[in-house]
Amino acid sequence: MSETWTIKYVIYREKKGQEPKFEEFSLEMRPEEYVLDGVEKIWAYHDRSLTFQHACHHSTCGACGMLVNGVEKLTCITKIKDVTENGGVVRIEPMRNFPVVSDLVVDMSTFFSRMETAKARQVVSLSESPTDSGIKREPNAADDLYRLSDCIECGLCISACPITATNPEYLGPAILAAVQLNGLDRFPELLSWVDNADGVWRCHSAFECTEVCPSNVEPAWRIMDLRKQVVSRRVKNLFGMK
Ligand code: SF4
Repeated sequence: MSETWTIKYVIYREKKGQEPKFEEFSLEMRPEEYVLDGVEKIWAYHDRSLTFQHACHHSTCGACGMLVNGVEKLTCITKIKDVTENGGVVRIEPMRNFPVVSDLVVDMSTFFSRMETAKARQVVSLSESPTDSGIKREPNAADDLYRLSDCIECGLCISACPITATNPEYLGPAILAAVQLNGLDRFPELLSWVDNADGVWRCHSAFECTEVCPSNVEPAWRIMDLRKQVVSRRVKNLFGMK
């Protein structure tokens, strides 16, 4: 029989009109199980009023981001043995820098809205994208599609960002990374959106975003590169260059 550990889950609880509090649950967990498994066990066997969100269970949907012992994690890919030990504590809180809706669920609508603004410019024609064979298609409006990128829009980078914590107007790591991916030469209309005090210049290079990103987007590096793009674009605009 596989080894089990006794784990104390300490869960943040917040319901509308009630004072936030922490509740404790004792669970028998295998070290190889995931943190999300424990949250689901609490909901299934202890308290059906616990609110949290998840979907894919394999780090694709980005829905299960939470603070685990004070660090931003995708809970579906974070193993118990990587955050605690037998007899230890797993403290679960909602992500920072987002309003709490209920318990572990946060309101990400502003973040998603900003991502849509960034992604709206990512619509490109297949005719502009190399195919697997390297052959370009003829222009065809029906072929327009969204380019895929590695960002799963989990919001962990926003939660970890110390600048977002002090300035909610700051666009934030994932949004700026998306703009960098687009490229300002390709989408110069994005320049004014990112070239201001709440845009690319607000970042203080803490690199917390890159530290917690589960998808290797490396948003901090992309923000640094976007600054170069901004300066280059300014010069090109000054001299009327494309
Ligand atoms: S950049 Fe990384 S941490 Fe930020 S939303 Fe995208 S996948 Fe999540």
